[in-house]
Amino acid sequence: MSHLDQMRSALAASGTPAFIVTDLANLRWLTGFTGSFGQAVVSATAAVFISDSRYTLQAEEQARDFAVRTFANPVDGADVLLEELRAACIDRLAFDKANVTMGALQRWEAKLTGVTLSAADDPIGRLRAVKDADEVALIRRACRLADQCMERLLGRIRAGVTEKELAWEIEVFFHSQGAGMAFPAIVVSGERSARPHGAPSDKQLQAGDFITFDFGASVEGYYSDITRTVVLGSPSERQREIYAEVLKAQMAALSAIAPGASGKAVDGIARASLERAGLAQHFGHGLGHGLGALVHDAGRLSPTIDWTLETGQVMTVEPGVYIEGLGGVRIEDDVLVTTDGCEVLTRFPKELLCL
Ligand code: ZN
Ligand code: ZN
Repeated sequence: MSHLDQMRSALAASGTPAFIVTDLANLRWLTGFTGSFGQAVVSATAAVFISDSRYTLQAEEQARDFAVRTFANPVDGADVLLEELRAACIDRLAFDKANVTMGALQRWEAKLTGVTLSAADDPIGRLRAVKDADEVALIRRACRLADQCMERLLGRIRAGVTEKELAWEIEVFFHSQGAGMAFPAIVVSGERSARPHGAPSDKQLQAGDFITFDFGASVEGYYSDITRTVVLGSPSERQREIYAEVLKAQMAALSAIAPGASGKAVDGIARASLERAGLAQHFGHGLGHGLGALVHDAGRLSPTIDWTLETGQVMTVEPGVYIEGLGGVRIEDDVLVTTDGCEVLTRFPKELLCL
């Protein structure tokens, strides 16, 4: 089923006559449009994509299932929207309450005479979580590049190299492969590795440092997201123990991933494993997130969010332990939920590497 048909089924199921999509990641999923401004209106019979003249040619090329309408100065986009709504006989329009700003809403209220607007939950996030074969193929390519990048980094790790220099290596590698960065790379070492989302600094690597890399490739708008922690020189007993416990927690969580499993339960398995080692208080974030056209796509493995796993979802599984003054370890893989469990898409080895 096309993404447009999937959206129409979701609208029919919720009794929504028409919906305006404004979120850029949702627009891309729905229409194929990759630009930075646009709106799509979908009803049972209408599918209209509106953008401005910067994107006329691109929108016609990319949004093939949609009637494309673009406008140029001094025309106001809200007037164009009203014309299109009237042409499609739409007088009730739902919008994504998590995406439309108060300013945009006030402008619509002033301009869209005769149209009843209603705030609604985004219907696409949940649809987007389940990937089709083309999407999985792109994520696989992004994961392969992440594995290769990790491999390449091993040859660059030595005392005196800075975190920023290693982050630059990651960027250069992905661009040299025709890909991009999923997000700015995290490279943190020594005591700084206790910062789960620390930015790379001018700190030089020293013997005994934990070094955590968290990065991903972007391939045609789809992402990978991998984390590995290694040690420079020989690890202490405590470092070995922490690493082994994080890996154990991750393996336990991976074995629990299957269609129908709850994200809360899978998170709980990793958390309980760390609890038995007396480390759960150092694991502050959720176990994982959906991955796709957004790095944090719909779907969570988290103690606070209800989410049911389905075949075709791609999730990260990333337990971590962070101890101030000592450092941290995180191990993150991307997995595809399959009919009988999951397939781990990132394949870089996970035994503790001492370089
Ligand atoms: Zn990550
Ligand atoms: Zn992640």
